[in-house]
Amino acid sequence: MNFCSNCSSANIEKRIPDDDNLPRDICSECGEIFYSNPNIVTGVLPYTKNNEILLCKRSIEPRSGYWTLPAGFLENGESIEEGALRETQEEAKLLVKDVELFNVISVSRINQIYTFFTGLVVNDDFGPTPESSEVKLFHIDDIPWDDLAFRTVKMTIELYLKEGVGKVFNNVLDN
Ligand SMILES: [Zn+2]
Repeated sequence: MNFCSNCSSANIEKRIPDDDNLPRDICSECGEIFYSNPNIVTGVLPYTKNNEILLCKRSIEPRSGYWTLPAGFLENGESIEEGALRETQEEAKLLVKDVELFNVISVSRINQIYTFFTGLVVNDDFGPTPESSEVKLFHIDDIPWDDLAFRTVKMTIELYLKEGVGKVFNNVLDN
């Protein structure tokens, strides 16, 4: 970082604070310590009782044009479930019920934690949004495996097809 967001000083140094064990950006003027920690991406795997799952075709980078589960960055003040349901509405105009935590994935290389819930599709007037050019139900035999946006999404769908809903998984993707 270049400037202190507390006092606007440009005197930022990297050192290990007292009582800490990792180097941090510290403002030499006001002493503010800036921690950098992983971001949380939270989303839903929406399913129906007719062996379908809902996917969104991304209309924004990264991976524009590829299919994904509705998911996005958790905001301050939200639970991971609230964030997942908000993203599902924002990206797909979709409501889900019977929401259960399903898959937690630590992606340590890019400092992200993914949390996916399963949720039963409620409404049938879901559809495109500024973030999704298409929103569609796919039968589980017709999932566009070669056009999925992210490995976390592929892993979560594979796990759902293998295990169904009701269990919680703890996974790591580290390369
Ligand atoms: Zn400062």
